[in-house]
Amino acid sequence: MTLNMLIMGPAGAGKGTMSELIEKKYNVAHISTGDMFRSEIKNNTELGQKATEYIKQGLLVPDEVTIAMVLKRMSQPDCDGGYLLDGFPRSLVQANVFDTKVIETPKEVNIVINLTVDKEALFDRIENRRICRQCGAVYNMHTLPPKVEGVCDNCGGELYQRADDNRESLERRMQSYEEETFPVLTHYRRLNLVHDVNASQTIEEVWADVQKVIDGFIAEHQEGK
Ligand code: AMP
Repeated sequence: MTLNMLIMGPAGAGKGTMSELIEKKYNVAHISTGDMFRSEIKNNTELGQKATEYIKQGLLVPDEVTIAMVLKRMSQPDCDGGYLLDGFPRSLVQANVFDTKVIETPKEVNIVINLTVDKEALFDRIENRRICRQCGAVYNMHTLPPKVEGVCDNCGGELYQRADDNRESLERRMQSYEEETFPVLTHYRRLNLVHDVNASQTIEEVWADVQKVIDGFIAEHQEGK
């Protein structure tokens, strides 16, 4: 059985940081819809042009655009060995279309990791977040600063602040999370797939809890329970 996972949580919960660690340790395809959109925008593609205004404002990109992009990506062979969807599904329409595609197939979702954080902490994390242009590594100017200011420890790439990491956009992203994404969590909770992880802890502690969830799932399936 492959690891078919979703990672959920509001902006600033640490989805990107945990995804990097999960991808490395468990060797699954990491699919971040936010990263995919940013790359389309950078390359000025038709899809990027469609998405850019929504992202700048902190609104969700329309479902049909997002769903088509994810399903295309999911059909690539690296997803056959397990995947980690980061930032998708973010609306009930996305969840329903996605579930219908994967249900009773080897790609059916088996773990949903939900990162929970106090709302006040999120603003602070987002405003201090910096990302490597080259490898996507995530830093925090207070809690996880790079060794040299503005330079990625991993690859020497330039660090930047996301255009939508400002208060106005963040408030809209929080609102869209509560209104549109929260119901997705309720939906997966009903299917008994959700594992809540307290993401207000240190990165090491959050990572330890995330590994417990995934290793627990692996052990259960090895025992054939
Ligand atoms: P993220 O990097 O996950 O914070 O996503 C950045 C932005 O990309 C979001 O604020 C949305 O505008 C857009 N986006 C990412 N994933 C989705 C999705 N599943 N549905 C709609 N819009 C999305």
